[in-house]
Amino acid sequence: MTVKTRFAPSPTGYLHVGGARTALYSWLFAKSQGGEFVLRIEDTDLERNSQEAVDAILEGMQWLGLEWNEGPYFQTQRFDRYNEMVDKLLAEDKAYKCYASKELLDEVRAEQEANKEMPRYDADHPKIKAVNEAAKEGDPCVIRFRNPKSGSVVFDDQIRGRIEISNSQMDDLIIRRTDGSPTYNFCVVVDDWDMGITHVIRGEDHINNTPRQINIYEALGAPVPTFAHCAMILGDDGAKLSKRHGAVSVMQYRDMGYLPVALNNYLVRLGWSHGDQEIFSQEEMINLFSLNAISKSASAFNTDKLLWLNNHYIKTSEPEYVAEHLQWHLDQKGINKDNGPAITEVIKLVGERCNTLVELADQIAYFYQDFDAFDADAAKKHLRGVAKEPLELALAKVEALSEWTTENLHQVIADVCAELEIGMGKIGMPLRVAVTGGGQSPSVDAVMQLIGKERVVARIKMALASIAEREANAQ
Ligand code: GLU
Repeated sequence: MTVKTRFAPSPTGYLHVGGARTALYSWLFAKSQGGEFVLRIEDTDLERNSQEAVDAILEGMQWLGLEWNEGPYFQTQRFDRYNEMVDKLLAEDKAYKCYASKELLDEVRAEQEANKEMPRYDADHPKIKAVNEAAKEGDPCVIRFRNPKSGSVVFDDQIRGRIEISNSQMDDLIIRRTDGSPTYNFCVVVDDWDMGITHVIRGEDHINNTPRQINIYEALGAPVPTFAHCAMILGDDGAKLSKRHGAVSVMQYRDMGYLPVALNNYLVRLGWSHGDQEIFSQEEMINLFSLNAISKSASAFNTDKLLWLNNHYIKTSEPEYVAEHLQWHLDQKGINKDNGPAITEVIKLVGERCNTLVELADQIAYFYQDFDAFDADAAKKHLRGVAKEPLELALAKVEALSEWTTENLHQVIADVCAELEIGMGKIGMPLRVAVTGGGQSPSVDAVMQLIGKERVVARIKMALASIAEREANAQ
């Protein structure tokens, strides 16, 4: 049997991290079993669904790299098929027409409540029975599924263990509304059956639907898939993760400068573990993933850990991969990477200092963009009269360099220190501020090498002019 899983979002908004984790688990399980992964858009709620939301979900899935083997299927394109199956159940007397009006159902419910009974649809209630018997063909009606009256539904949830629900707790579910549209729980079963889904991995908010759905599978003569219901994700205050806790949309994480590998690694560990290992390459995740190692209890979202992972991946990923994802941030900031050194070299030099790609984009702007002012604090501290002589000497030496290498630039700094009998800081910091505009950067020789001679010379001259101006103003 080929394992087949699916992710079945309802397009009511963006792809949120909870959905992304469910999608990731479904994707990983399929991959780990050499199986297939299906994407299905559950868009039957026409009032709440939108094309924008569909696009946002597809964008989120693509960004995370969760490629699907089949789909996206759209439930709104499958109504004929659902109705065909409703008709089949009707013909087999596994479903029936119910003509009870809303008013009557409300009346029966009030009666049940008054009698301290569980409020539920009861086909055998004398008033409902009478209405159904008196109805004529063509009167408005819904179609209800004939849920078994006795016994119970038992299933072995791969995360939560054995679950047993008595049929007496389930009433006859509406599977087709008066307007002819099939209902959610029915569509899901027909889809999972038609699409050959072997494992349904979804949020535990759907666990109450499962016994109802299992009865429908059985009535249709369809094989019942294996179920795994994942616990919730909580915010840092223990409440269900929501917008109130900050970013919940996957694309917001892109915007905040996370790499998809980092978010995937974070999400896989949020509720699944393999010993105490924290870092998982995609290949390791696929090889090690198993449903029974998913935690039964809810997990709390921890942004610090996600930042730590992001820094790890910025540091250790191929610079080409980082560059691919950095591009969006460069575009946001109007930084043109063709206007300076190879971006991969800059990433190798600066990346490890950054927790996010937003920080990285901010910190590398000076490689590509000239500036017309120095950071005020850094200039006040380091572009002062005492820096004039060391900077002038450094300028002369860099102008004279015939080979623009990090080693030679390192030697220039060492020679300035030796000739003027000053410590490294007295030239290192002024040079750093001169060439980068600010007080923080990686090793200044390597930075100058990447910035290039022409820009370095111009920027040291600009720093000297700034010192002269400061001195003139002080007099
Ligand atoms: N469409 C449902 C949701 O977005 C998922 C249903 C399922 O996975 O069975 O919550």
